[in-house]
Amino acid sequence: AYITRLNPTLEELSDVKTAVSEAVTNAVIHGYESGPGRIFMTCNIHNNEVEIEIEDFGVGIADINKAMQPGFSSAPEEIRDLGFGAGMGLPNMLKNTDEFDIKSTVGVGTDITMVVRFK
Ligand code: ATP
Ligand code: MG
Repeated sequence: AYITRLNPTLEELSDVKTAVSEAVTNAVIHGYESGPGRIFMTCNIHNNEVEIEIEDFGVGIADINKAMQPGFSSAPEEIRDLGFGAGMGLPNMLKNTDEFDIKSTVGVGTDITMVVRFK
């Protein structure tokens, strides 16, 4: 609903929803290892672009380059049984956005900022 003012196509809307969903799912299942925790999402629109930041204060990522590799997943068996763990969430966020930035520190958390531009 927030980005409808940017007049997205259904495909653009779907790409943004996927990117946000993957980031939040990662915070829940990896950052907080499926336990309780806070996730902050901040959205801003400037002209024809939306910037979305998703932040958790969970376990963090030791090797971001490795985490970004298509197919890499640290998901445990019980999470894979639920259909997660293809290792495609981060690659899909990169693919679906015009700018993608990830900052993460072990024991501190993970902060993802994505920008999507519309015509
Ligand atoms: P899929 O998203 O395809 O279900 P996945 O979540 O394992 O599988 P990615 O989303 O690409 O794959 O993430 C790759 C890896 O990066 C994860 O397995 C995990 O090790 C690490 N990771 C990603 N996001 C976080 C996060 N917010 N906190 C801690 N680790 C993370
Ligand atoms: Mg994922």
